[in-house]
Parts: sequence; C-alpha cells; structure tokens
Amino acid sequence: MKFNKELDDIVLYEPGKPVELLIREFDIKLEDIIKLGSNENPFGSSSKVSSIIEMGSKKASLYPDDSMFELKDSIACKYNIKPNNIIIGAGSDQIIEFCIRAKCNINTKVLMARITFAMYEVYTKQVGAKIIKTSSIHHDINEFKALYDEHKPGVVFLCVPNNPLGECLDKDAVFDFISHTSPETLVVIDGAYQEFARYKDKRKGIEPKELLERFENVIYLGTFSKAYGLAGMRVGYGLAHNNIINALCKLRPPFNVSILSLDCAKEALKDEEFVQSTIVSTFKEMSRYETFANENGIKFIPSWGNFITFVLEEKHSSSEICDWLLKKGIIIRGLKSYGMNAIRITIGTAHQNDRVLESLREFFSSK
Ligand SMILES: *Cc1c(COP(=O)(O)O)cnc(C)c1O
Repeated sequence: MKFNKELDDIVLYEPGKPVELLIREFDIKLEDIIKLGSNENPFGSSSKVSSIIEMGSKKASLYPDDSMFELKDSIACKYNIKPNNIIIGAGSDQIIEFCIRAKCNINTKVLMARITFAMYEVYTKQVGAKIIKTSSIHHDINEFKALYDEHKPGVVFLCVPNNPLGECLDKDAVFDFISHTSPETLVVIDGAYQEFARYKDKRKGIEPKELLERFENVIYLGTFSKAYGLAGMRVGYGLAHNNIINALCKLRPPFNVSILSLDCAKEALKDEEFVQSTIVSTFKEMSRYETFANENGIKFIPSWGNFITFVLEEKHSSSEICDWLLKKGIIIRGLKSYGMNAIRITIGTAHQNDRVLESLREFFSSK
C-alpha cells in the first residue's frame, strides 16, 4: 500500500530506552536500574501527587473536564496571565504539533537550530514543510536572523535551554530575535527546562507574562515532564496571545489529557518546594560531572538544563559507552542520531551519580 509521500523521509523519533527493555533483555532488576536517558526527574514527583493518584480510581470512569478550567486557572495564577492565554496538551510535544499544523503546509518553511529537539523536525516533515537549519550547532541569533530574512519561515523554534546540548540563549537575545520577526511568523519558545535555567542565571529566565505583553506572534511552551517529575502523565502547555490559542484549540482533540494527569499537574503546582529542591540538587550534582570531565580531559557543554552533554574524542565512541553502561543497568543517551559523537546524561540523585561516575571512570581508564 502507498502512503502519503511526506512519510517517506521521516526518521522515527528515537525515545530514550525504557527500563522495561533492561528487565527483559539483561534480566536486571527494576531497583538496580538507573534511568538517566530522558531528562526525567530522578526524585520522582511531589508527595502531594501520590494521594491524587490513589484517589484516581474513583474518577477513572469519567471523562475529564474538557475546558481544563482548574489546571488553566492554576497555571494562570502561577504566571500571572489569563486562562484564555493557555492551551493544554498531552505533553508540550502535542502543542508543538498543533503549532506546525496550524501554520505549515508544503509551501512553508520552518527554522530551527542544527541540533535541537528532534520532534520539531518530525512534525514539520509530517506536513511536508521545508526545514531550514542553522549551520551552527548552538543557537546563534545572528545566523537565525540571516536565515529568517532569507527564507521568511512560517514557524521558528528557539529551544531555551536547548535539548540535547544544554546551551541557553539569554532572554535579551530571544527578545531581540522576536523583535526581528514579522507578525505573520509564529515564534515558538520551548521552555521545557526554563525552571532550571532561570534558577542558574536570571539572564536566561523568560517571563511568559512579559513575553506575551510584548509580542503577539509568540508561544511559550512549558511542561510538567521535567522539573515537576510527571513525564509519565503527559501534561504540557502553551501560553500565547488568545488569537494563537484559539487557532490551536481547533486542532486539539477533545479530552486530549486524562483526568488523572490534569489532577496531578494541578497538585504538582502546589508544591514549589519540591521543584526547588530538585533544581538545587540538580546543579549541585551537575558540578560533579563537570569535575569528572575536567579531570579526565573530556569536553562538556555547560548546561542550563537537568542534563549534561559530554563531547567525545574520536577514540571513544558514544555507542560503545552507552552499551557499556546499559549492561550495568545504566541508561543514558547517545547523540549519534543527531550526528554527534557525544553522550547526554540526565543528572540523577547523588546515589545514582555515584554509580554512573564510577562506571564512567572504569570505562575511560580501560581505554
Ligand atoms: C522533554 C521536552 C519537551 C516535551 O516534553 P513533553 O513530555 O511532551 O511535555 C519539549 N521540548 C523539549 C526541548 C524537551 O526536552
């Protein structure tokens, strides 16, 4: 059977390896597995969330409130914006999809950094739009501006901080770029790791309220998957001028987020202390990876997210390290599919990092 030709050059998104795979293939026990391949929160989620999940069975037979009034209200309070500036998705991934589908077709171009979140490319290809990438692997605003002028893209993605590399544009550079764009271009500010970035350096912090007040052609994306520790629940959001929100809502399937997920996200927002302690611990532990890299002559990219990327020399291959760690029950992420000989490690708990660093030390000293 023939399918739409747009599907021909889509390379499937390669998710981080699941724990189920290690249990199945290597017979490693769940409690011995360290999963640091998908930037999830190694501390789990707020204890407040567990009671919601226990109560969840009572609600399982009901459709969720499709207006998502309560979660929108909580998000609106958090950012001091209006509920009609919010759309909620099954992960912010789904909002990325809505953005592309609302703006793009085979005659449209989409601009992004050369190495950035892989789903921008997948959704763009699904609609047959053309991808324009910078030649620089990091977000280089001058190059973004030049390519913007040359190609007049319908959508631009800025991933701040950038996954999988960890670098992060300053807020001023982001605002400067948006000022350069036409009102017809949708600029997507992917803030999946903003909680981490703004803690580490105020200059990286992007306030959605200010963003929305200054620009009518941007959408800010946030997620509960990273700092809030709810990756399995699939909840993310987009914040934008309500013209944009109204358009995206036409693409949203009814009940796209489950009743339990909505309740958990709302509850998680009440526990900022959990998020703060996650962030503090993340950067404290990240410095151990930086020290390790410095001591072993490994290059790393300074990171504003909850992960760190080691850029390897030719004599070490990323797949070799990943396989070596996998057999020890440690899941990290190789960046081969991005065309880089590099590994990305989510910062784990102190105990997890002990084991990862010990295994990495063994690996590098055996070479
Ligand atoms: C994790 C991530 C997302 C979205 O995650 P969801 O689980 O779909 O909310 C979006 N952008 C970036 C850059 C990410 O790393």
